[in-house]
Amino acid sequence: MIVKTRFAPSPTGDLHIGGARTALFSWLYARRHGGRFVLRIEDTDRERSTREAINTILEGMAWLGLDYDEGPFFQTERFERYREVIQMLLAQGKAYCCYCSRERVEQLRAGQLSRKEKPRYDRRCRSLTKPPADASTPPVVRFKTPEEGETVVDDRVRGRVVFRNHELDDLIIVRADGTPTYNLVVVIDDMDMAITHVIRGDDHLSNAARQINLIKALGVAPPVYAHVPIILDEGGRKLSKRAGAASVMEYRDQGFLPEAMLNYLVRLGWAHGDQEIFSIDEMVEHFDIHEINQSAASLNRPKLLWLNQHYLMTCDPSHVGRHLSWHLGVRGIDPVDGPPIEEIVKSQAQRSKTLLEMAEQSLFFYRDPTDYDAKAARKAFSSQTPGLLARVRAELSGLEDWTVEGVHDAVMAVAHALGVKLGEVAQPLRIAVCGGPVSPPIDITLSLLGREATLRRVEAAEVWIQRNVGNAGSALDSAPGQP
Ligand code: GLU
Repeated sequence: MIVKTRFAPSPTGDLHIGGARTALFSWLYARRHGGRFVLRIEDTDRERSTREAINTILEGMAWLGLDYDEGPFFQTERFERYREVIQMLLAQGKAYCCYCSRERVEQLRAGQLSRKEKPRYDRRCRSLTKPPADASTPPVVRFKTPEEGETVVDDRVRGRVVFRNHELDDLIIVRADGTPTYNLVVVIDDMDMAITHVIRGDDHLSNAARQINLIKALGVAPPVYAHVPIILDEGGRKLSKRAGAASVMEYRDQGFLPEAMLNYLVRLGWAHGDQEIFSIDEMVEHFDIHEINQSAASLNRPKLLWLNQHYLMTCDPSHVGRHLSWHLGVRGIDPVDGPPIEEIVKSQAQRSKTLLEMAEQSLFFYRDPTDYDAKAARKAFSSQTPGLLARVRAELSGLEDWTVEGVHDAVMAVAHALGVKLGEVAQPLRIAVCGGPVSPPIDITLSLLGREATLRRVEAAEVWIQRNVGNAGSALDSAPGQP
């Protein structure tokens, strides 16, 4: 048997974190067993499905690297097949037309609720052979759920869950407008696509019982079900699309790497011993449905940040660089106009928790400062600074070897000659070239920035300081200013 799993999102919104986790678990299970993974877009709810949502789902899957072997299939392209199955169920007496008016069904429901009974259709039309005189047309089609016995969902996460058939409704499988409903089309698709394992959110657990009855009526064996507990927010509340669950693309925009996201997602409800860090290969190697937790998992942003920094520091710098380039591009920067992107990554990884931070802190590699951080400048710039910077500039312009070591020695030489500590040279120099007090070590920063940009920026800072810092240094109170 070839293991075949599927991810079956309804495109009514972004790919949010719960959906992404379902997709990941399904993907991992297929990969672990050398099986196939199917993407199926459940877009039969035409009013709520949008092209935009389809695109963000596809984009999210691609960003996470969750590739699929089949699909994307669209349910709206399969209506003919659904009609064929409906005709077959009707012909075999496994489904029936129900002519009860909406009002009647609503009255029935209200009465049952007032008697504290579980609302369900009373099966009035189940044994009709022709439409009743008071028929409301067009009819809906209902499935003949067995009246006796039980349906057992042998769930791989939740264990054996028993539903009494008489409590399961004769569910509507075709609406009065002729469109098939969710439970029917899922069953037809899972059957036609030969899905062996259905891994999805546990809000679908009771649907599993209905789907098992339907799929048996179609004469095939049900797939294995695994219903994954919900995800809670950091305050322990149920996370829902409506309650602002963040979409996967928002996490990208906030500067997370897909590797960190996948590692975070896999640990939301699944554990393998006490291991926290999983490469994708390790996830594929170890993932098993049996280890999915029965209780709900909670979001934990500090953990996600921690994972992200781990991957920023340990992934191949050119890989991180590709993601950093995307963030720089969003800020209007073309990274080819700067130092090698992987060198920027190496110099910044330790000081950034996200790619967003890394991008913000790396803007100076591409743009000369347009102002100087006021507080830092007030502290580090004085009337002595232009002379000091000119010394540095002279030393650097004569430097033959523009390398980290060469720059380091040059800055050291100036500090030595002036009889000051390295920091007393490095900090004004840093602010001069970066505009602010934070950057990688000064020798690395300058070596990446290059000779031309460094000398130009240092000179501009000298001019600015001469103009703005009087002997008393008081003009800096009005910084920032234009260099
Ligand atoms: N389309 C359903 C949803 O987005 C999932 C159906 C299923 O996995 O069976 O909730």
